[in-house]
Amino acid sequence: MLPLQSIAVFCGSSVGARPALADAAERFGRHLAAAGITLIYGGGRAGLMGLIADATLTAGGQVVGIIPGHLHHREVQHDGLTELLVVDSMHTRKRLMFERADAFVALPGGLGTLDETIEIVTWRQLGLHDKPVVLVDQDGYWGPLLGLVDHIVDNRFAGPAVHALWQVVQSVDAVLPALADAPAPSIAAHPGRL
Ligand code: AMP
Repeated sequence: MLPLQSIAVFCGSSVGARPALADAAERFGRHLAAAGITLIYGGGRAGLMGLIADATLTAGGQVVGIIPGHLHHREVQHDGLTELLVVDSMHTRKRLMFERADAFVALPGGLGTLDETIEIVTWRQLGLHDKPVVLVDQDGYWGPLLGLVDHIVDNRFAGPAVHALWQVVQSVDAVLPALADAPAPSIAAHPGRL
């Protein structure tokens, strides 16, 4: 894989119930800063989103936030970022995150995280891109989702090839090594078709 310049991270706008997951988000922010990789994320100050942004910035990294104007209040935009883009809609946010990232990483989160992660994987399934996607099953958090995907394959609503749409790692510490081994994208991304 070519050196990554930026990674989009999907994660919770809540901190969740398990401190280990919040710690992991902060640790991943430090990994990004140490590797000189720009964090692209949803631009909020709340939850794991805020924790990873702060940890990246504190460690000297670069952070780009992309937030829809209507979420200003709910997610409380982060004002200390390297760059903050306030956009008109959720769709524009997703498209810009897609365009600006070389790879995607899903940390623990809620329904929004799930939506963003599944969407980027289904875009890959449709051949709209082949940028790497890493699902971080930190402390087993995404086990039920992985079980659901197995169930879908068992019932033949997807072929076993769907397992190759993402790399699953057990810890944030394994993300950058996994991406270093991932093949470089071989098809041009098609943001115009999203
Ligand atoms: P959550 O995982 O629900 O805490 O949300 C994480 C991020 O996903 C937040 O930035 C939300 O704004 C975003 N989000 C929530 N719902 C959606 C959705 N339907 N589509 C895209 N992003 C969403």
